[in-house]
Amino acid sequence: MRKQTENFQAETKELLNLMVHSIYTNKEIFLRELISNGSDAIDKLKFKALTDTDLTKDLDEFKINIKIDKENNKLIIEDTGIGMTFDEVNENIGTIAKSGSKAFIEKFKEAKENEQLDIIGQFGVGFYSAFMVANEITLFTKSPYSDVTIKWSSKGDGTYEIEEVENLDDLKRGTRIILSMNEDSKEFLEDYTIRMIVKKHSNSIKYPIYLGEEKLNNETPIWKKDKKDITEEEYNEFYKNTFFDFEDPLLHFHIKVQGSLEYTALIYVPKRTPMDFYTRDYKRGLQLYTKNVFIMDKAESLIPEYFSFMKGLVDTDNLSLNISREILQQDNELTKISKNIEKKIETELKKLLKDEREKYITMWEAFGRTIKFGVQEMYGINKEKLQDLLIFKSSYKDEYTTLKEYVERMKEDQKEIYYVSGENEELIKSLPKVKVLKDKGFEVLFLTDRIDEFTLKTLMNYSEKQFKSINDADFNHTEDEKEKETRENLEKENKSLLDKVKELLGGRVEEARLNGNLGSGAVGLASKGEISLEMEKTLAEIPGNEGMKAKKIFELNPNHPLFEKIKNTTDEEELKDLLYVLYNQSLLVEGFNLENPIEFSEKLNKLITK
Ligand code: ADP
Repeated sequence: MRKQTENFQAETKELLNLMVHSIYTNKEIFLRELISNGSDAIDKLKFKALTDTDLTKDLDEFKINIKIDKENNKLIIEDTGIGMTFDEVNENIGTIAKSGSKAFIEKFKEAKENEQLDIIGQFGVGFYSAFMVANEITLFTKSPYSDVTIKWSSKGDGTYEIEEVENLDDLKRGTRIILSMNEDSKEFLEDYTIRMIVKKHSNSIKYPIYLGEEKLNNETPIWKKDKKDITEEEYNEFYKNTFFDFEDPLLHFHIKVQGSLEYTALIYVPKRTPMDFYTRDYKRGLQLYTKNVFIMDKAESLIPEYFSFMKGLVDTDNLSLNISREILQQDNELTKISKNIEKKIETELKKLLKDEREKYITMWEAFGRTIKFGVQEMYGINKEKLQDLLIFKSSYKDEYTTLKEYVERMKEDQKEIYYVSGENEELIKSLPKVKVLKDKGFEVLFLTDRIDEFTLKTLMNYSEKQFKSINDADFNHTEDEKEKETRENLEKENKSLLDKVKELLGGRVEEARLNGNLGSGAVGLASKGEISLEMEKTLAEIPGNEGMKAKKIFELNPNHPLFEKIKNTTDEEELKDLLYVLYNQSLLVEGFNLENPIEFSEKLNKLITK
């Protein structure tokens, strides 16, 4: 029989050290972690038993037992799950494979001392959290794939012992964890403390948890219960336990469908963007249960990419139990279910948008980007479904608006939906063009996310109204007849001046023209063609696309005193400097960088000191 003393892997040592010396006050979470490991182990066993019934032939009980041995100062937690072989113990308990724990250590090190405690609660550090309450842990485990039982023990210092031992009569299968409690953790040897902790953190575990003879939890899965019998708190606890969040979710949808298609889904939206959400590590998907058996953790096909931020589960009795994970992807029944779920979520979201705008906005600010990407996906294949979920800030009230609400407010003679892009809301609000439009009673959508304009471009129109950037070359829709006439006359009058301006700007702009709607601004910038000003900025950030530039139009405000100055500057060199400075000014206002800050400063200084 094998027996070894091993060193913990460096990272594990670090984590252990943190746990042993932890002054975290909420130590009780160790029990939640051990119970949930036990529950996972039973899940694994039941899943494997679907195709290999031999696995459960010695023992067909699935439960978690807690025992208190006050005399010997021990707390024992055992499950009848899959257990572990010799190698598995080495792999799973000796090392930290889980990326979550690595992230934990990194976060912990970065955090300031007063924040560190919080982090322990946030992550849930699994098995090792038991070292907060125990000065020695002994584990016995029997896997149906091994003939012998494995004993593992450690004092939480740098090493652990692992050996093969004779099978125990009272451990036919599963894992027994014996904690020798440390001086400060005697409270966990009291029945009522254990009862309270299990109720608080593990009530929704789907296998019975016993303390001696007494069953502590209510293992009817929460999603199987009647909605009216479930409290908000139960929904929240279940979420935190199942999806490893330390915070309550923002909201949940509990969907029960009956008829030719039958399933139950419980879907949550987290309150915040998970740290790994925009990384490759993030995996979308819903948990899948069939006839109460846990089949898999992240069934991707159950939820579309644009709702990837949602967490939850689906339970259906209509699947064959003899199913492999590969076949799942093509299962007809599942495809129908996922289509149906998608529709239900859309309906729920629209309801939320209408009835609980605040919550919707919280969700939008955390995850709205995912939905916008969804609109853009595959040239807009999903745009019809998603367009009414989009919200944008607008000049109407400094609030979010849907496209539908915008269109309802549109003036009778307004043919298009106006938008403007910019770095942030404050900057956009101060743009002279926006102010002028607002004064004239036109509403403008504020696009502050780089991908917004691409999203609108994919939509092309909403309710038969095209989208129009107020920076677009042919945007003059808000001019009334009189204004138009005045401008055209002025342009005729100043034709040679405008040609000169274009020439002196030396290839920087396609055209120079007048715009009487620039408010207090002396100059403005517009674009024509496919690439807008905002798109140029976005494209510049994508390697290989730096050369893609908007065709720019330089606009002069005929009502600004500087226009007179331009007109009256006869010295060509001076006019050239003046235009250079003004053009660069318009770049700045539109959120571009100066072409050359030093040259700009020199020319500006020259003009000032004149
Ligand atoms: P996590 O459970 O989050 O993966 P842990 O540190 O708690 O992290 O556990 C590490 C691994 O050890 C688990 O993934 C599992 O493979 C194994 N393990 C832990 N507890 C048990 C148990 N009671 N039965 C079987 N395997 C277990």
